Amino acid sequence: MSKKEKTYGFTSSVAIEDRRFIKKTLNDEKGWRSLGYEFRSLGSNAGAEKLDFVVDMKEQGELDALFKGHDDLEGLSVTVYSGDDGPPNHIYLNRKNWMDPPHEFDGDRTAYRAYLVAHEVGHAIGYDHEEPLFAGQSSTAPCNVMYQQSKGTRGICAPNALVSAEVRPSASERPTFV
Ligand SMILES: [Zn+2]
Repeated sequence: MSKKEKTYGFTSSVAIEDRRFIKKTLNDEKGWRSLGYEFRSLGSNAGAEKLDFVVDMKEQGELDALFKGHDDLEGLSVTVYSGDDGPPNHIYLNRKNWMDPPHEFDGDRTAYRAYLVAHEVGHAIGYDHEEPLFAGQSSTAPCNVMYQQSKGTRGICAPNALVSAEVRPSASERPTFV
């Protein structure tokens, strides 16, 4: 299997219609697929060792308990990166934001969900955060997907879930985990 073929599954906390939305987002040709990635859902029957990442949905209280002492994660979704030889990377989607997007995100719920899936999966496949935009762009340009748009897009950049829509200087690499 090529490094860009990724397999994933869901925990039982992710509703069927949400799984459908997540699959659709990952299959979008303008998303990570535009960089050569392919995503295959193996459902919940696959052994964890076969999965690159797992998608989970948690209440804010559950996230608080899981990430005690990490006040910087308050109100956010979190992806735990286990490294190449570890268990699958684990995406914890924040149900509160999923239902009611952060006020400073200047887009509707569907736009927020698409961004959130693209961003957290970006972490799960090894990418780190970026600035909202590259130097010299106006606030109407599409945000970089690996910018934390949950923290705000108003007056900063346009909400964006598609890596192919980013305006990237040709030389700019995506920062990755080490
Ligand atoms: Zn992030």
